[in-house]
Amino acid sequence: MYSIDLTVPDAERTLVLNLGARWHQKYAVWYVPRTLNAQPLGRWLTARAFPNARSNSLWLARVLGTCPWCENSITLHGLILPAGHRTLCPADEPSEDVWEVAEEPSQLFEIEYLSDTLQAALEVHAPTYRLAYSPLLERFCWLNHCRHCRGLIEDDDCALDVGSPLNPLDESMAARIVLQEIRVEFEASCARYSCGVQFLEAMARTGT
Ligand SMILES: [Zn+2]
Repeated sequence: MYSIDLTVPDAERTLVLNLGARWHQKYAVWYVPRTLNAQPLGRWLTARAFPNARSNSLWLARVLGTCPWCENSITLHGLILPAGHRTLCPADEPSEDVWEVAEEPSQLFEIEYLSDTLQAALEVHAPTYRLAYSPLLERFCWLNHCRHCRGLIEDDDCALDVGSPLNPLDESMAARIVLQEIRVEFEASCARYSCGVQFLEAMARTGT
């Protein structure tokens, strides 16, 4: 099954067709073929309309890992929001949804949308972290890519399990992670979100 996550106004159909999007007759949805780079189609992603996290800054986490496909050493990236960011608490009625200020930092996983301001910063600081079709999740997500073989690395393989490179088991593992502060106001939509980040204080810091 293909990703079903583009919302396309009638007037822009030709434009998205030219960028590689396709119309699925049976399901009556616009989708992106999984072989295609989804980046140019980012503004039509349906997830864009449903942000669930907002912040004025973030920590871009970097750590060395091993590509599961070619076994070369690669840099992996993750996004950590400082305390004080806001998260959407959904109510029964969408009109009653509330944005709450988070008292703990949090790490975002299975990110489906990042606003343009942050995308521009990531193109510069984390070019191998980009939107791609996740065969595991069967939808588009921001994922790490290997700079050698271009293979993609699912969050499941580098960030979700405790003890994986972006989810340290102890302070010495955390010390291998370098955090770069990026001051930019942005919105995100993600499927998973941690309350608190383990060993954040043990991670190294660089300037912007
Ligand atoms: Zn590789």
